[in-house]
Order: sequence, then structure tokens, then C-alpha cells
Amino acid sequence: MLNLSRNTLRGLAGVAAVAALAAAALPNAQATPTANPAIPVLPQPGETPNQAVSTPPAGEGLTTMASSPTNVVRYNRLYNTPAITPSKCKEVNVSLRTQAGVAAYSTQLWTCMYAAWAVPLKAAGAAYKVKPKLSVHSGTKINTGCGIANNTTGYYCSAGNGVIYIPAAYIMKTWGQNPTYARAWLTQMMSHEYGHHVQYLTGILNASWTRQRAFSTNAARLEESRRRELQASCLGAAYIGANKRYYPMSGGLLTQFNYLISHMGDQPGGVRDHGSPKNHAFWSTAGFNAKHTYTVAGNCNTFNATSTYVA
Ligand SMILES: [Zn+2]
Repeated sequence: MLNLSRNTLRGLAGVAAVAALAAAALPNAQATPTANPAIPVLPQPGETPNQAVSTPPAGEGLTTMASSPTNVVRYNRLYNTPAITPSKCKEVNVSLRTQAGVAAYSTQLWTCMYAAWAVPLKAAGAAYKVKPKLSVHSGTKINTGCGIANNTTGYYCSAGNGVIYIPAAYIMKTWGQNPTYARAWLTQMMSHEYGHHVQYLTGILNASWTRQRAFSTNAARLEESRRRELQASCLGAAYIGANKRYYPMSGGLLTQFNYLISHMGDQPGGVRDHGSPKNHAFWSTAGFNAKHTYTVAGNCNTFNATSTYVA
């Protein structure tokens, strides 16, 4: 419930914030500290469901993964898989002024992420063929089976083996104010939500929720939420970074993307369930810059990081 009310507040703040953003000069990636009152409160591109409702399909590895929830999140086979190979998918050159445009743009990302993630998911022993559904919607309250998806934030629900919800109206409105920002936002949001799907298929999503429910203090539960959310952004950025030459993620789009990842997250005075903007930038950058000599997903192991990195 906490998450849902928070979503709404964030979303509403986000609408005003983007208007402010559009009125000001284009944001610079590294420009401004969060303490500056001129900094807009950015909407969260993705929220996880309040509870896991669906057991992931058994891949080859998962059926024999004899482990506690903590072992699943910390020592998952995903962390030892090869780097993501570029999908070589380009950004769709389409206006996001219409729902059809948002759908076309989102659909290509969704298709490309499915293909790119299949390799590491297969290596991790997960059911890599399970593709999430995509819902580009204009509703204000979508009952997902996990909770309510609203019209200002992306949403992932694992029910039915995964559905990604994209709020078209919000993207269209943002496009009218700052098209490049809207592209960066939708790209980041799709990748973040797909990161939750990767978590789901590898058992991490459910294991993390099991851990969260078992913690006795609210502080510990919030830290678990931050680990999960920061990892979703890291995994998402790993896809974007691997494919950056082809998309391409460069120039003004990269500037907006960098601005976004370094300003989103928990805002002053808000609930601490997504991680500070500083840590959101840290994990997103770690994923984005992952080289093939590292294990890409291994760079996203937020569950084995000290609390400082998930504050
Ligand atoms: Zn999320």
C-alpha cells in the first residue's frame, strides 16, 4: 500500500516537474545537486508490485536451485553469465505524440530486450523463452493482479508470467514538453521494467519479496526494496549500454538519460524505497558501462553490496 500511494504522489509531482523542466534550459547531465530547489522531482519510471503473486516458470537451473531466498538473490547464476550482446536494435524514429507512436517505440524495445536477455537468462538456467506481455495503456487505474498501475509510472507485474505496463498519456504529455527527455524516459522505463522480468525469471524477484516480508523492521524492509529497485535499473542500463552504439544512445539523448538516472530515486522527505539519486546513478552507470570482460549481471549484484551503496 505504501508503494501505491507513493506512486501517485510521485506521478503527480512528475507532471508538474516536467513542465518546469521544459521551461528551463535543457538539463545538463552532471549539473545540479539535488538540494537545489529548482531540480524537478522526477517520476519513477518503474514500480514493482507490492507482492509477488506468481512463481517463476522452472528453467533447467531453477528446479535444482536448492537455496534460501538469500542465496537466490546473492549468488544467483545470473551473476556468472556472459555479457549481454548488443541487440543491434535501433531506436524507432517515431513521434511519441500519439499512443500509436508510444506503442511502436515500446514494442521495438520490448522485442529487442527479449532477444538480448535470452542469452544470459538461458545461461542462468532460467526460462528464457518466457516473454512478458506488453500493455501500452491510457488508463488511470489498471488492476494488474499485483496492484494498481497508474497513468504516470511504468509497472511490472509477474502475474501471468509477466506484464509490463506503459502509461502512454504520460509519455505523450512529456513529448509535448521535451521530446528528447520523453525518449530517454521511455527507454529507461522499458529497460527498468524488463529488469524486473529478468529478476522474476531468475527467482530473484520472489526471493527478494520473501526476504522483505521476513524482515522485522521497516528500515530493513525498505533497504530490501531499494536493493531490488536499484538492481532493476542496473540490469536495464546494462541492456542500454551494450546496445549504445546501435540505438544510438549518444548526444542529446545520452545527456537526458544521464540526467534522468542521476536525479530519479528517493526524493527528500519521501519514502526510502528506491534508493538515493546518487546510488541510482551509481548502479545505472555500473550496468551501462559493463564491459564484456566482466560479467554484466554480476555488476548488478545489489544484494551483495554494503548498505552504503543501497542507501
Ligand atoms: Zn521498479
